[in-house]
Amino acid sequence: KDSHAAERQKLGPRMVKDALYTYVRPDPQGEAELLGVSQRALQDIGLSEEEAKSEEFKDTVAGKKILTWDESKPEEGIYPWAQCYGGYQFGQWAGQLGDGRAISLFETTNPSTNTRYEIQLKGAGRTPYSRFADGRAVLRSSIREFVVSEYLNAINIPTTRALSLTLNNGSKIMRERMEPGAIVARFAQSWIRFGTFDLQRMRGDRKTLRTIADYTAEHVYGGWDKLPSKLPPGDAKEVHHQISAGVGKDTIEGEGVDAENRYTRLYRAILRANALTVAKWQAYGFMNGVLNTDNTSILGLSIDFGPFAFLDTFDPTYTPNHDDHMLRYSYRNQPTIIWWNLVRLGEALGELMGAGGKVDERTFVEKGISEKEADELVNRAESVIDRAGEEYKAVFLAEYRRLMTQRLGLKTQQDSDFEQLMSELLNCLEAFELDFHHAFRRLSGIKLSDVETENQRKDVAGRFFRANDAPRQESDSRERIGTWLGKWSVRVKEDWGEDRDEERQAAMNAINPKFVPRSWVLDELIERVEKKGERDILPQIMKLNLNPFQESWDWNADEEERFCGDVPKYKGMMQCSCSS
Ligand code: AMP
Ligand code: MG
Ligand code: MG
Repeated sequence: KDSHAAERQKLGPRMVKDALYTYVRPDPQGEAELLGVSQRALQDIGLSEEEAKSEEFKDTVAGKKILTWDESKPEEGIYPWAQCYGGYQFGQWAGQLGDGRAISLFETTNPSTNTRYEIQLKGAGRTPYSRFADGRAVLRSSIREFVVSEYLNAINIPTTRALSLTLNNGSKIMRERMEPGAIVARFAQSWIRFGTFDLQRMRGDRKTLRTIADYTAEHVYGGWDKLPSKLPPGDAKEVHHQISAGVGKDTIEGEGVDAENRYTRLYRAILRANALTVAKWQAYGFMNGVLNTDNTSILGLSIDFGPFAFLDTFDPTYTPNHDDHMLRYSYRNQPTIIWWNLVRLGEALGELMGAGGKVDERTFVEKGISEKEADELVNRAESVIDRAGEEYKAVFLAEYRRLMTQRLGLKTQQDSDFEQLMSELLNCLEAFELDFHHAFRRLSGIKLSDVETENQRKDVAGRFFRANDAPRQESDSRERIGTWLGKWSVRVKEDWGEDRDEERQAAMNAINPKFVPRSWVLDELIERVEKKGERDILPQIMKLNLNPFQESWDWNADEEERFCGDVPKYKGMMQCSCSS
């Protein structure tokens, strides 16, 4: 903890050494207006709808009241804090970053699930980590974060959560123009990032690095005994084989390299969590847009929502980040970039993994380690990371295939499915610029009796195109999709047998969402809340957002269909700048 916080608070942004957090108080601006509360989030932290209507709740999520601390008893209770971390931004070491506009209030455990969450406010004022910025968040980006956090959770993708959205009426924030500010109250099992480790490594602060590693294992992962126990034995091929076959899940029996090193096990737990999450992003066409190491969670949560987006048409080279000229954070690059971030984490943990490693040549000198011994340690670190790379690939692929198998409505996986069904479908989507999400949802709607003959299949292929998109619906493209539908229906019959359409369609609809909070939907929502002052639209969209697999919602059929329908002209694959 940064113990000099109180007297230094007036000094503003600064370098914080030998500490992982600083005590700091929210400083809300303007008049608070609660715009939205996620009912799912309330349930998950264990609050009732009634409790969320209290003044105490509203004041707490607006940063006006510190629930766990009393001015008259300053030594007691829990005082809010901001975390210290660093990060690699676009591949370059960026030094200390930290929670520049996020302030954690307290931790709370839901008694019925026993899950502990850290509740945090984003946009509630400056901290020692604000650098040159104002500690605020604009309404526009706060709406985006509020909606997408709750959506990712609704489609079972690990993510930080959003409890509420509060508008700071009358506040003015300077971005490209003056904009109103807002506060999102959010929560997560942990807000620790890879950048938390990077910073201590780059400073050579081995003591603090060990403290945060121990804390992560003991308090975030729930204890050393909860971590995967042994690396899969054998060579890379064997690692892949065992993981894809699901042998032993997290714990694969047998001796492996460094089987006993607990920090290696911690590294592997973090690696597995991230491999699972990035596989889910790929299967659902989600892009974070800024996968810097400060935006990569040690729990594999989707975290820090800036210029994120969902795919509209299937274009693997698409990046939602307007400033990402190298396509570093494009859709197809996400698995590689998460691995790049994991290698940086492996370097930070290298010494603790018993490997001395790539940490820093200086540490060898300090420790009086000979060059020969140092070489051996480096080799060991590299072999730990290399093997971890195989594990990462295997966990990623197994999860990606599992999800895509389900999205296609299949129950089993055959080797040929990957090439013949998954790749060929994606190739068609890319070649004909078809909508990624509609393809899966519309596939769910197909009955086997609809695709029995070649003519029927060519006809049904038309459903994958936009309405009125005649030029693209040439007979060749429909023929190619028709051929694909033929192969697909054979596999469906194999897995389900005859006359099981209803059951299969229900299973497919439960995994292929109808509603997706695409960029154009969020833009319209922002426009209506911010410019037109509408107050019903956010709660309505939240119905779709929290239950995206439903066919309809009790709102307005035309509006529902419009928000789930074709992307309006010139509003597809938009890009977002980082200013938020
Ligand atoms: P990001 O690109 O969102 O990962 O942000 C990088 C760093 O800048 C993080 O440490 C943020 O806390 C900080 N930051 C971004 N916007 C602001 C702001 N308006 N005020 C203070 N800090 C900010
Ligand atoms: Mg960040
Ligand atoms: Mg951010």
